[in-house]
Amino acid sequence: MTSKSTSVIELTENLGAHNYHPLPIVVSEAEGVWVKDPEGNQYMDMLSAYSALNQGHRHPKIIKALIDQANRVTLTSRAFHNDQLGPWYEKLTKMTGKNMVLPMNTGAEAVESAIKVARRWAYDIKGVEANKAEIIGCNGNFHGRTMGAVSLSSDKEYQRGFGPMLEGFKLIPYGDADALKDAITPNTAAFIVEPIQGEAGIVMPPKGFLKAAEQICKEHNVLFITDEIQTGLARTGKMFAHQWEEVTPDIIILGKALGGGVMPISAVVANSDILGVLNPGSHGSTFGGNPLACAVSLASLEVLEEEKLTEKSLELGNYFQEQLRSINHPTIKEVRGSGLFIGVELTEPARKYCEQLMGLGLLCKETHDYVIRFAPPLVITKEEIDWALEKIRVVFA
Ligand code: PLP
Repeated sequence: MTSKSTSVIELTENLGAHNYHPLPIVVSEAEGVWVKDPEGNQYMDMLSAYSALNQGHRHPKIIKALIDQANRVTLTSRAFHNDQLGPWYEKLTKMTGKNMVLPMNTGAEAVESAIKVARRWAYDIKGVEANKAEIIGCNGNFHGRTMGAVSLSSDKEYQRGFGPMLEGFKLIPYGDADALKDAITPNTAAFIVEPIQGEAGIVMPPKGFLKAAEQICKEHNVLFITDEIQTGLARTGKMFAHQWEEVTPDIIILGKALGGGVMPISAVVANSDILGVLNPGSHGSTFGGNPLACAVSLASLEVLEEEKLTEKSLELGNYFQEQLRSINHPTIKEVRGSGLFIGVELTEPARKYCEQLMGLGLLCKETHDYVIRFAPPLVITKEEIDWALEKIRVVFA
């Protein structure tokens, strides 16, 4: 007899494009840090949808905002104003210290938008010759799957078969400030960087790199863009990971947890001397800034603050990392991270260990083959972390 899970997986695999390789588990219910499959088995979610669920699954305040707003108005398009967009802008500008926001839906879309803004800024404000603008990124980056983002990637597999790539991108080694200086030309519009590289395997830059990059960008009139889609919104133990080095990016890109794991919503946040280059007709999105997503996002941001999830991430993250470091196992090469954004690098492929952890009720996922990413919802308790550690100690016994 086939189980509900088996038949659902079969249907999904038979009819869907095979652009993911999920663990063989079907999630049909979720609350907080816990999820259940159709057979009623319970698992702890240690991935948080790649940090989109920082507030936990179905946070009551966020779900209430969703339902209340769904009962009023969900979509206006930007042809008309809606009463949620302005208050959401106000919240984001207060949190970031910037004065302008561009609303989008997904992370990759926001990255794409930031690239467009940086290029237009280069032509209109900096005075770069038409069609010569360059953007510098880092080896190992992940900024999404759209053409701009994959053109900026150093991963040939992300680009294979999708050419021609967009022009005007340059790469430097992650963390190499001298290389950044050398790569800058009079045509450089921007430097875009993840404060910690998530998809690359929770790769931390050398201390001082962001500060040096900020300084170099300032000296050369180059926009300093931080992609905080995965690292932002309390994940690393600061509201934004760039705060670890007290830098002030010119452009901050947000997504994922901005929608509390409930609605896709993303944003490019900057000052009006930069975002002001956009005029009616230059950019847009039918769903960007829709009232349903804005209401959900506003509640999601309030939850981060009200429940002190930044402080929680730091405190529990330090504890979790310390405990992970105390596990002595020959395959564990390194435990690294910031707050509850943790990578455990192994000397062999991590998939097998993720499958074993799943068998014990702990859901996590390998990233770039050798790293297990532990990034639970930030509403997790110390007791729940201890429960997870018990399972991890069994697998790495
Ligand atoms: N940028 C970073 C740093 C990310 O981690 C991701 C997603 O993992 C993206 C961009 C793309 O976001 P999305 O999948 O919402 O397009």
